Amino acid sequence: MNILEIRGLSVDYLSAGGTVHAVDDVSLDLRRGEILGVAGESGSGKSTLAHALGRLLRPPAVVTGGSVLYHRAGGGPVDVLELDRAALRAFRWKELAIVFQSAMNSLNPVSTIGAQIDDVLRIHERDLPRKVRTERAAELLRRVGIGADRLRSYPHELSGGMRQRAVIAIALALNPEIIIMDEPTTALDVVVQRDILHEIRALKDEYGFAVVFITHDLSLLMEISDRIAVMYAGRVVETGAAGELHRAPRHPYTLGLLRSFPKLHGPRQELLSIPGTPPDLRALPSGCAFHPRCRSALDECSSTPPLLRPGPGGEVACLLNDGTGVPVPTGPTSEV
Ligand code: SF4
Ligand code: MG
Repeated sequence: MNILEIRGLSVDYLSAGGTVHAVDDVSLDLRRGEILGVAGESGSGKSTLAHALGRLLRPPAVVTGGSVLYHRAGGGPVDVLELDRAALRAFRWKELAIVFQSAMNSLNPVSTIGAQIDDVLRIHERDLPRKVRTERAAELLRRVGIGADRLRSYPHELSGGMRQRAVIAIALALNPEIIIMDEPTTALDVVVQRDILHEIRALKDEYGFAVVFITHDLSLLMEISDRIAVMYAGRVVETGAAGELHRAPRHPYTLGLLRSFPKLHGPRQELLSIPGTPPDLRALPSGCAFHPRCRSALDECSSTPPLLRPGPGGEVACLLNDGTGVPVPTGPTSEV
C-alpha cells in the first residue's frame, strides 16, 4: 500500500541564465514501511525532490506541475503541495520528517541536544509534562545509540556520527510516517556510515515508518533499500527492487553507477566510472539526455527520448529496455 504517490512532479529553477528543469515529470510511489532509495549524481534532481516533498523549496525554485499525494492512515489522500500553513505545520515532523546531510547545519549550536528534542516535543505535543518529555528525549537518544547523558551536550561536543544520530533522534521524536533522508551519512567515515544505516533499518522495522533515502552512492543504497529509483538529469530512468537492480540493472546509467563505487565490504572492484559529466540542465542533450555518455547508445538515442516503461521488476527509460538490445518503439504514440 502506498503512503506517498508522486505524480508528474516538475520543479524549475528560474535564473537569468535560463530555466533549469531540476525535477522533470517525476512519478514515484513510496510504500508504507519501505525504504525507497533514490540514487543519482549531484545535479540529478534528488535533493530538489527531497525539498519538494517536505515543502521546503525556496525561490528561485518553483513547482511547475504535478502532485504529491499523502495517504494518511484512516483518512483520504491529501496533496502535500496544496497544504496551507496550518496544515503544513501539523504535517512536518508528525507525518513527515527530513534529515539532511549536514547535521551541523540542522542543529542549533547554542542549544543542548536535549533542549532541541524537547523543543520539537513541546511545540507539537503541548500537553506532555516536562518529565515525560525528558524521559522521551532520553529514550530517543538511546534508540539511536547515544547515551542519555548526552542530553546535556552541545552539538560541538559530539562527534560527526553522534551529531547525525542526534538529528535522526529529533526526526523520530513525533513518530512520523515518513522520513526523508538526503545524504544523511555522506560526511561520515565508512564504518560509522554502516552502523547508522543498519540502525535506520532496525528503527524502521520497529517504528514502521517509510524512508526516502537519497544518496549518490548506489552501492550504499543496495545495502539499505527495499526498492531503488535512479535519477538522471531530473528524471527517473530506472526503478526496481534493490536486489533485482543489483543483479540485473537495465539502464546503462544504473550499470555505470554500480561500477563507480567500491562495495562497502567484499573484494574491491575496479572503479569503472561513467565517462563525461552530468549535462547542463538548461540545455539538455536531445533524445535520451544520457546519450553523450552512454556506452550502449544507438543512432536513434540522440533524437528519440525514451519513455519510462513498466517492465517485469520495475520501470526503465532506455531504448534498449526490452533487454535484448533490439530497440523497442518509443515516442508519444506508443506510450503505455
Ligand atoms: Fe543509452 Fe540510448 Fe538507453 Fe539512453 S536510450 S541509456 S543513450 S541506450
Ligand atoms: Mg544533493
